[in-house]
Amino acid sequence: MEKFDAVIIGSGLGGLLCANILSKEGYKVCVLEKHFQIGGCLQNFTREGCTFDTGIHYIGRLGEGEVLHQYFKYFGLTEKVKLKKLDEDGFDVIGFGDSDEEFKYAMGSARFAEKLSENFPEEREALKKYSETLNEISDCFPLYNLNEIKTNIDETEFFTKSAFDFIASFTENKRLQNVLAGTNLLYAGVKEKTPLFIHALINNSYIESAWKVVGGSSQIADVLAENIINDGGTIIKSAEAKKMIFEGHELKSVELANGERIEAKYFISNIHPSETLKMIDPDQTRSVYRSRLLAIENTISTFNLYIVLKKESFGYLNYNYYYYDTNEVWATGNYSKENWPKSYMMITSADPKNNEFAESITVLAYMTYEEVKKWENTKVEKRGEDYEEFKKERAEKLIDVIEKKFPDIRKHIKSYYTSSPLTYKDYTSTKEGSIYGILRDCNEPMRSSISPRTKIPNLFFTGQNIILHGVLGVTIGAVVTCSEIVGMNNLISKIKNA
Ligand SMILES: Cc1cc2nc3c(=O)[nH]c(=O)nc-3n(C[C@H](O)[C@H](O)[C@H](O)COP(=O)(O)OP(=O)(O)OC[C@H]3O[C@@H](n4cnc5c(N)ncnc54)[C@H](O)[C@@H]3O)c2cc1C
Repeated sequence: MEKFDAVIIGSGLGGLLCANILSKEGYKVCVLEKHFQIGGCLQNFTREGCTFDTGIHYIGRLGEGEVLHQYFKYFGLTEKVKLKKLDEDGFDVIGFGDSDEEFKYAMGSARFAEKLSENFPEEREALKKYSETLNEISDCFPLYNLNEIKTNIDETEFFTKSAFDFIASFTENKRLQNVLAGTNLLYAGVKEKTPLFIHALINNSYIESAWKVVGGSSQIADVLAENIINDGGTIIKSAEAKKMIFEGHELKSVELANGERIEAKYFISNIHPSETLKMIDPDQTRSVYRSRLLAIENTISTFNLYIVLKKESFGYLNYNYYYYDTNEVWATGNYSKENWPKSYMMITSADPKNNEFAESITVLAYMTYEEVKKWENTKVEKRGEDYEEFKKERAEKLIDVIEKKFPDIRKHIKSYYTSSPLTYKDYTSTKEGSIYGILRDCNEPMRSSISPRTKIPNLFFTGQNIILHGVLGVTIGAVVTCSEIVGMNNLISKIKNA
């Protein structure tokens, strides 16, 4: 049996970044990926010549001098991944079903406040205070800046106050409250639960600068995989980890679905903590820890519509469009069959031959797992006609709603494809296809947070469940996980000097 220094279960962004860090530090790593394709949410797929992203549509703070740019430099991504900056004057546009007014998020703290003041002139000071506070909050998280910046803010509130209450503390204007929460789909926010730090870190990162990966986010996975191989690491695809094997209380190896065992000194799980726990004999962990992780609540899932457009028919939008049927942004995950979808997010991709036009559109709308549960024991592309009919009916309903803001959209559609919560469940093994993994709850901050350290000394967690989801959150998570093995100061100084 070949023995590694570190085995990493899952080749999502977190797993690949950890493997990069450790192999750069001279560790012999092995990444195990259940699918035939690496990347998890970084995966793309192609239909009729159009490349569609599945789980990374845009990324914040990637401009030169910004924090993610520095991390990307360390990982050798800056020169190899092609980026396009979204509209500085409106990278996200929020619209509501009850009005024709549009609300634009502009890049840069001051410009963000100024731009929205055009819609809300009487709220100029509130908007300035809001965007300045986002900066101050972000400054309290050293890895979000790669600097220790001291502020006077009470940090407990970041985890115990809700994002909803946080926003309401700046303005009583209901429309503005909804506009500031208008990118809710970026964090699957729940009014009573989502803590303010999630909203603040995510909104702040995109307000700093917002970028798309041109040609598909799988490029990130490809570069990271190439680095691992160049540094002497191993990546095994179609290798599903099934069981953790112990000698006494010491974790020794991971057993794959085919029965093969891979031995290592350290183990990093890039998969959902509850899925990880299922691989461990209950005797190896305390039952309180086990039952907490197995019962942890997850964020909602999405139904996705992937549209192939007729050539040079629909203009490319260098921004993302968020729609809400009413002035109740936080409530759109609670829907009935009749009023679905209550919101959506729409992203266009430029035609590489003529950037004025879009070649495709991706639309995401919240969907609960309950809606597709009856097909959970079926396999991809073999779920049956009733499932296909369900998806078609929902796609048509979604297009009906899109038509309210883009009235002639149907005439531009050449064809479309769809995915459901089952697709995410099958491709990333997230419980119930959850979009961002665990749901953080400001009422129970400790119960709903996951430490990279587990109760097993040589097993660590990484990925979207430990610090925060998204490219920046998962990158910081990988640094925190690997610092348990290689030391934080050593690692940070290498990242800063990259
Ligand atoms: C619809 C959607 C849209 C999103 N949009 C954005 C966006 O625009 N910008 C942004 O920054 N973030 C976005 N995100 C979030 C972001 O994609 C994720 O937070 C991040 O990619 C998760 O990375 P991860 O490391 O946790 O791993 P994951 O991507 O969850 O990957 C886990 C990997 O582990 C593998 N695996 C599972 N079980 C096993 C096993 N037993 N053995 C071996 N391998 C296994 C899976 O196959 C998968 O490859 C989006 C997510 C979704 C779902």
